[in-house]
Amino acid sequence: MKAIIYCRVSTQEQVNEGNSLLTQERLCRQYGKNNGYEIDKVFVEEGESAKTIYRTSLKNMMKYCTLTEGKIDAVLIYRIDRLSRETADYIALKVFFNKLGIKVISTSEPIEDTPTGRFLETVLASSAQMDNEIRGERSKNGMIDRLKQGRWMFYAPLGYRTEGAKGASNIEPVEPIAGYINRVFMALSSGYITVEEVRRDSAKWGLVTNRGKALSISMFHKMIRNPIYKGYLDVPSMGIYQKGSFKAIVDEKVFDQVQYILESKKKKMPIYRKLNPDFPLRGALKCSKCGKLLTASWAKQRTIGHYRCSVCTNVNLNKKVLENTFSEYLKSIVWNQITVEVVKEALLLNWQSHKKEYEKELAKIAKQQIEIRELMDKVVDKNMRGVYSDSLAKTKLNDYERNLAELRLETQKYASPDVMEADLLNYSVDFMRNITGMWDKLDIEPKHRLHKMLFPDGIVYLNGIFTTPVKSCLIELNDLVCVENSTMVTPRRIELRLPG
Ligand SMILES: [Zn+2]
Repeated sequence: MKAIIYCRVSTQEQVNEGNSLLTQERLCRQYGKNNGYEIDKVFVEEGESAKTIYRTSLKNMMKYCTLTEGKIDAVLIYRIDRLSRETADYIALKVFFNKLGIKVISTSEPIEDTPTGRFLETVLASSAQMDNEIRGERSKNGMIDRLKQGRWMFYAPLGYRTEGAKGASNIEPVEPIAGYINRVFMALSSGYITVEEVRRDSAKWGLVTNRGKALSISMFHKMIRNPIYKGYLDVPSMGIYQKGSFKAIVDEKVFDQVQYILESKKKKMPIYRKLNPDFPLRGALKCSKCGKLLTASWAKQRTIGHYRCSVCTNVNLNKKVLENTFSEYLKSIVWNQITVEVVKEALLLNWQSHKKEYEKELAKIAKQQIEIRELMDKVVDKNMRGVYSDSLAKTKLNDYERNLAELRLETQKYASPDVMEADLLNYSVDFMRNITGMWDKLDIEPKHRLHKMLFPDGIVYLNGIFTTPVKSCLIELNDLVCVENSTMVTPRRIELRLPG
């Protein structure tokens, strides 16, 4: 009977006496001699991984066996893991040799060609695989170490690229995409614009994927929630959330502000209230027949817009005509001097009472911040005494850090000027006096605030004039002190265009 010997050693194993090539070959030759095999050839694999079956000598051996079909009776290996560490690979190789009439014999492991033997063989191959997986686990730990150094080990996200030598690599922002991403966050942090609007705008600036396509809705949503853009590593599967050592694309405060807005929008914003700068009167304008809020949409490639009632069939108002009329109507409001004085007084009172409230809220937050800092000290103390492991302590501290960041955002809500100076008061009054004349130029958010202030219960457009079911006290006051110039009647009547 003829046999060939296959030996394999990895670079690391060469120092280990028991696994050395000479030992493997010696033991295989010994086995051959004892079992009546004549050694035909020896194949040696040096320094290559057990992982892949695409090894040079193994391939040569397989080729040799195919070419000499019928001549070779057995392949002698020192141990199963010499052939492969993966069960599936090992079985595939065994099937390959069996088809050529060649037995695979492990010289140090008692395997017979019986059901028990085959079972044992599978077990041994599996344990070789397990060993391989443990090695993988070790490299995963290495990965955690590298992440803890603040380095991003994975595929670089949009706006970043991988730089640096292998083993010391990290990510760095890449222009112009990084700049566009920063612009996205700046736009969102204002809170006056919807995510979808920013997404559409960003495509126009040139924010595209690495393949040159516009970002899909889901990609965009994922991007604006990815803390990597504020320079943080977030790998939940490895328990990692910490500041990275690479450059952030977005300021941390801006990023947190955007998250805060996204969270509160999810909770508060009903669909019909979504602000759309294309249709500023949506949310204020009601149907003259049924009293429902009107919806609005574009037709004919965004050239003609309409406000419509979703219930009544022939309430269909031309956007351009309606908004021009509304703007003219606001301009026609003349604020009486007495009204202005009253408003001034009201602003002052309002500011004083708010200031008190704000101070109370800020004191509450300050107390919470102190409590959290005390809890953090306790965690550190428990960690030092060995009660909390490093990783548990780190997780807890990260949670508290997040709480503190949230509270810092809360405080911004209550920021107010320390003194209501005369200048500021006059500015506010002037602003109010002029705001009705500047409606066209206002952003969508202040527009909506103005609508709420002037028409708390909405407005109705009928036969060319605007009316309101409930007058705001401001308008009521203004009407009262200046009866001749009542604000609720427009001086001009404008033809209402109804579609045919
Ligand atoms: Zn209606």
